[in-house]
Amino acid sequence: MTTIIDGNEIADRIRADVSDCATRLADEGVTPGLATVLMSDDGASETYVSMKQRACEETGIEGIHQELDPDASAETLLQRIDDLNDDPTVHGILVQMPVPDHVDSRAVLERIDPMKDVDGFHPENVGRVVAGNARFKPCTPHGVQKLLEAADVDTEGKDAVVVGRSDIVGKPMANLLIQKAPGGNATTTVCHSRTDDLAEKTRAADIVVAAAGVPEMITGDMLSAGSTVVDVGVNRVEADTEKGYELVGDVEFESAKEKADAITPVPGGVGPMTIAMLMYNTVKAASLQSGVDVDL
Ligand code: NDP
Repeated sequence: MTTIIDGNEIADRIRADVSDCATRLADEGVTPGLATVLMSDDGASETYVSMKQRACEETGIEGIHQELDPDASAETLLQRIDDLNDDPTVHGILVQMPVPDHVDSRAVLERIDPMKDVDGFHPENVGRVVAGNARFKPCTPHGVQKLLEAADVDTEGKDAVVVGRSDIVGKPMANLLIQKAPGGNATTTVCHSRTDDLAEKTRAADIVVAAAGVPEMITGDMLSAGSTVVDVGVNRVEADTEKGYELVGDVEFESAKEKADAITPVPGGVGPMTIAMLMYNTVKAASLQSGVDVDL
């Protein structure tokens, strides 16, 4: 029987642990604080930020939400980041991407104090992940690691294929999978849009992590029997629903589940884990900045 890996349940467990750590910090006079900055009118970005703020409330983290006019200058955003860097009640800073075209997103990510960079996108934190000395693992790939661990999927010695090479998912995912550490030690291949014969690569894999942003591109015939499939993709496709669309992953769930031993659904797989790991990183940031050890 194929195991459907329940991201909601696993994320709930992690959030409960993180919430306990937040309480221990609060007992020592440190309330973890996460600042979210939104500089966009985009509905999806607004939804993501409000989900993160709601998760803060539920976890005992002080959520501080700030909005900037999308027409504001890049300097205004950078100044706002400086203010948050200097604010001792703020332990984590997240600027919701994408920012408007006139703002250089790299400059934004580099402006965030690396100790408050709970997304893990600052070059210092990226470098630490690559060096096997992570401070903040990026939330989505870290969430995938936790899903695999909770589903008892041992990555050691396995052939893993990551489909996608973005800075926020594909590359850090591959970096975590090759680390000489629990959750790593996999022989890892990274595929992308120029990969020749993707199906040949995925068929040879024990573990497939799909993060391409292409609806249902990984089909059952591209998988080997007994593999583990983690679907990071979240794609809106037209559908006869009230909203006029539905969310599907990068994996064609029905055919893939016939082949896989374990598979994550969309929604309810990786998505909730990403937010849980953001809470985790925020509490870790508060612990690191205050010197109060909570063993995360
Ligand atoms: P990007 O668009 O930044 O990157 C997509 C990657 O997939 C690129 O490396 C691209 O290759 C590769 N790719 C695109 N088409 C193909 C193809 N046909 N075959 C092989 N590779 C392909 O996306 P993100 O990494 O930001 O996100 C990926 C997906 O994950 C999206 O659906 C996104 O919504 C979702 N996501 C979900 C999260 C969650 O919490 N569940 C969090 C973050 C993202 P190339 O580099 O050559 O262009």
